[in-house]
Amino acid sequence: MTSTGLQDKRWLDPDATPFIEFRNVSKTYQGVPAVKDVNLSIYQNELFCLLGGSGSGKTTLLRMLAGFETPTSGSVWIDGVDVTDWPPYERPVNMMFQSYALFPHMTVYDNIAYGLKRDGMPKPEIRERVEELLGLVRLSGFANRKPEQLSGGQRQRVALARALAKRPKVLLLDEPLGALDKNLREDTQLELIKIQESLGMTFIVVTHDQEEAMTLATRIGVMDEGYLVQTDEPHTIYEYPSSKYVADFIGDINLFECVVTETESGDLSLYSAEIEAGLCPPTSFAAPLNQTLWYAIRPEKMRLSREPVDADNVLSGIVHEIAYLGDFSVYWVDLDSGFRIRVSRPNISRLDHFAESWDERVYITWGQDAGVVLTQ
Ligand code: ADP
Ligand code: MG
Repeated sequence: MTSTGLQDKRWLDPDATPFIEFRNVSKTYQGVPAVKDVNLSIYQNELFCLLGGSGSGKTTLLRMLAGFETPTSGSVWIDGVDVTDWPPYERPVNMMFQSYALFPHMTVYDNIAYGLKRDGMPKPEIRERVEELLGLVRLSGFANRKPEQLSGGQRQRVALARALAKRPKVLLLDEPLGALDKNLREDTQLELIKIQESLGMTFIVVTHDQEEAMTLATRIGVMDEGYLVQTDEPHTIYEYPSSKYVADFIGDINLFECVVTETESGDLSLYSAEIEAGLCPPTSFAAPLNQTLWYAIRPEKMRLSREPVDADNVLSGIVHEIAYLGDFSVYWVDLDSGFRIRVSRPNISRLDHFAESWDERVYITWGQDAGVVLTQ
């Protein structure tokens, strides 16, 4: 079912033709910029996630692709054609809105069939199409219900079926799972991936939820204040964030401000005044002496020990607090400098001796390439 071979990762192929392109797209509302000079290529069959905080420009970018907004400058391309001035109904794109209001007086069947009827599709074809869609979203047998007789998750799936009814080449989904609670959300995320894969369509999903983006996406575009600040596969965004903003937005991370120094033997080293410690930079590190930058290390990349450890990167401190989160625990450790860091440990064994280590001295180590250095 899932195909993750290299041949599907068209973005890695410099000769591949993008299906959707934003070229230097900016949008300003009454002099206030909402989207700033976005360049983005999305490929066929991608499940692309736009991720960013509230007000970062995600919806505006999507609306410009759907044709509900016109860029202030730049152009939007679909399938090799400049569609910047095309009205929404001429674009091979459908959008499922943030508030996916169904028609309350209509049955599930009529909600899904609505656009097809308006287009004058013959009745038997409509019936066939709607039944196929009901099967796809696992609602066969619900055709005659009214929206009020459905759960939140079921309503969301009807809205998805309705958005898919006209078989758009691209489906835009703006916070599609925002109204669902956590468990239902996770189930529906997997459903969405299955549906997208089985239809071989291009989905662009807007979310402010980083876990959702990590679960769904072939690639993630991170937005911050109108800028598209990083576009990469989920694991690359997580392991190699391009800035402090991305590092901090996606998952938990410890950030130490450092300057570049030199060891007695002439190797590059880092010194962080805020943690009062020297750090060993990653193997491929290169930067001018005295430059200020940030060392970033994820909590799960660090190891905790009660015994002193001899390693390149060692910090020491007192356990301030432990949060038990079921599958793992987070340890807040106060370093001697007063700087507080987070270290996480998987809860592999049920009787975990470490769980009683409040107010104890611990040593924290990690491998040379477990952290990354960020310059912005
Ligand atoms: P997001 O979807 O990431 O939360 P939006 O794209 O909705 O962000 O908004 C980006 C910025 O543009 C925000 O500052 C928002 O207030 C502003 N904005 C969005 N739509 C309009 C509009 N129709 N008129 C004026 N400002 C708008
Ligand atoms: Mg929005």
